[in-house]
Amino acid sequence: MQEITLSLSSPSLSYPIFVGAGALRELPRVVKEHSATSLAVISDEVVAGLFFDGLVPLFSEVGTRVLYFTFQPGERHKSLATVEELARKMLLAGVDRSAMVAAVGGGVVGDVAGFLASIYMRGLKVVQVPTTLLAQVDSSIGGKTGVDTDAGKNLLGTFHQPTAVLADPVFLAGLPTQQLREGLAEALKAGLLGAQGLLELIEESADDLLAGNGETLTELVAKAAAFKALVVEADERESGHRMILNLGHTLGHALEAASGYELSHGFAVASGMAGAFKLSRDILGLPEEDEARAVSLLGRLGLPSIFPSEGFSFA
Ligand code: NAD
Ligand code: ZN
Repeated sequence: MQEITLSLSSPSLSYPIFVGAGALRELPRVVKEHSATSLAVISDEVVAGLFFDGLVPLFSEVGTRVLYFTFQPGERHKSLATVEELARKMLLAGVDRSAMVAAVGGGVVGDVAGFLASIYMRGLKVVQVPTTLLAQVDSSIGGKTGVDTDAGKNLLGTFHQPTAVLADPVFLAGLPTQQLREGLAEALKAGLLGAQGLLELIEESADDLLAGNGETLTELVAKAAAFKALVVEADERESGHRMILNLGHTLGHALEAASGYELSHGFAVASGMAGAFKLSRDILGLPEEDEARAVSLLGRLGLPSIFPSEGFSFA
C-alpha cells in the first residue's frame, strides 16, 4: 500500500490518500484519530448491496456508532433532493456535529456525500472510500463536491477536502468493464496532462487494465492520484492551474446534459476530449501525430474517439 500526502496551505487540511490492498483497513484509525463520535456511512443502493455485508466486521472496529444511509444509484440522483432526503434521515437518526461521514461509492456518492458533509451542521469531516475506478483515479481527491440541477452539471457545490481517501482495489475486482473504461478515460486525461509515467503505463498495459488486473490498476490509481494531488496542491480552489483537469469536460458536460444523463460521465469526457483534440489541432496547431496518439488510445480503451459534430457548430 502507498500513502500519498496531499499538502495544502493550511496543514490541518492536508490529508493522506491510501492506495492499494489494505487501504480500507485504515478506516478505524482515521475515525479514531479525528475523535468522531459516530460514523455516517453514505452509499448508493448498488454499492450497499454489493459491499455492506462484507464491511460490517471493519465497521465494528471503528469503536463508535455506525449508521447507514443509502440513495438510488445514478447521475439523475446526484441532486439537491437526494441531499435533502439524506440530511433528513441523518437528523432523525441523531447524527450530530461530531460525526464523520464515510462516502462509500463511485463519483456520484462522493459528490453527494461530500456536499452534504460540507453543509450538514456547518460541516462534518468526510472520509472518501471510492469504489469505482473513476472515483479512485479522480473524483475522490481534491475536495470538489456538488450536485446537478436542471440547468446543468455540478452547478451547486462546495470545496470540502476529505479527511482521508482510502482507494482499495478490493472494490475494483468485480467492476464491469464499462465502468473500468470510464475510469480509464479520466486516467488517460491525467496521462495526457503529464502525470508521471501514466501515459506509458496505459499504452503498455491497456489490455491488462481492461481485463481488471488488480496490480496494474493499483499502479494506475497511484500515479493518477499522485498527479491529482500535485495539481490540487498548486491550486486548491481552481483559480488557475487546476482548470487543466477540465480537459474534455466542457464538451463532455454538455453531452451529458444534452443526453438527459443517459450518457455516462467517463464516456462523455472521452468524447469531449476527442472534440478538444480536434479543436486544438484546427485552431491552436496541435501536431497531427499528437492528436492521433491520443485518439488511438481512446479507441484501444473502447472509449468514444470522436465528438458527435452533427447538430453542433464550432464556427
Ligand atoms: P457512479 O458513482 O454513478 O457509479 C457508476 C455505477 O457503478 C453506479 O451504478 C454504482 O452504483 C456502481 N458501482 C459503484 N461501485 C461499484 C463497484 N465496486 N462494483 C460494481 N458497481 C459499482 O459513477 P462514477 O463513474 O463513479 O462517477 C461519475 C461521477 O463523478 C459524475 O457525477 C462526475 O461528475 C463525478 N466526478 C466528480 C469529480 C470531482 O472532482 N468531484 C471528478 C470527476 C468526476
Ligand atoms: Zn470528470
